[in-house]
Amino acid sequence: MSSELETLYQQVILDHARRRSGFGLSDVATARHHELNPTCGDEITVGIALDADGAIQTLGWEGQGCSISMASASVMSELCANRDAAEVRAMIDDFRTMLRSRDGGEPPESLEDAVAFQGVARFVMRIKCAMLGWVALEACLDQLSTRDAAAPAAS
Ligand code: ZN
Repeated sequence: MSSELETLYQQVILDHARRRSGFGLSDVATARHHELNPTCGDEITVGIALDADGAIQTLGWEGQGCSISMASASVMSELCANRDAAEVRAMIDDFRTMLRSRDGGEPPESLEDAVAFQGVARFVMRIKCAMLGWVALEACLDQLSTRDAAAPAAS
């Protein structure tokens, strides 16, 4: 990674740590999940609601922690709001894969601003910080899909 790119990425992270897009939990959220990262002290609660077509209609989060965890949740909410749940799951997988690969290969374009966190992969202790909001979002999607599966079929 070039140093200019690295500087740009750091800027994206700092901007989002301040901006905290999507901060605040909505009353209409039908699934909520709280995640804690004890090694760093970060905590994030994500709340979502899906529309009738299975797209994420509402996505909010609250929490506190280091710049990486806050910035990552902010980027996540901008990236994932109003998207189809299946598409969001694919993005969560891509994000996780990027953070787990330390070879610095080309990250998937689907991740847009979230590629700014690629450098975090070199710092094992910070990977959980960057993943925290995404893991909470994934757990919310799991809650809703389990509920769908358990619901009696509409007649
Ligand atoms: Zn952290």
